[in-house]
Amino acid sequence: MTTCIFCKISKKELPAKIVFEDSHCLAFEDIHPKAPVHLLVIPKRHIGSINEIGPEDEVLLGHLSFIARELAHQCGVEKTGYRTVINTGPNAGQSVCHIHLHLLAGRPMHWPPG
Ligand code: AMP
Repeated sequence: MTTCIFCKISKKELPAKIVFEDSHCLAFEDIHPKAPVHLLVIPKRHIGSINEIGPEDEVLLGHLSFIARELAHQCGVEKTGYRTVINTGPNAGQSVCHIHLHLLAGRPMHWPPG
């Protein structure tokens, strides 16, 4: 039995505000949004982090970016801009060990990130 919360969301064992789903990935609202638009795009298959991806995952990772672009378009932020982030490991602040691409938008963002 998995204890991964994003696997549980993917299997509908935990609630989430799902905004997109296909056979490979799922997108839902972040429970603690850091921007007016804050969505998470995840693969349905459990992959802990970018450190765990293999050559067979290249298309899947590109698909997450493609879906993020589609969602940015749907949210009407493609012209004002948006940030896509995948945190990996403790120094980057990864808190959920299931790859997720953050889509953040709706306010100006600073660079470099904190
Ligand atoms: P990270 O720090 O990059 O691992 O990001 C994990 C993100 O998952 C954080 O922004 C959390 O707010 C978010 N999160 C954690 N639990 C849930 C949940 N049950 N539903 C939606 N988002 C969540």
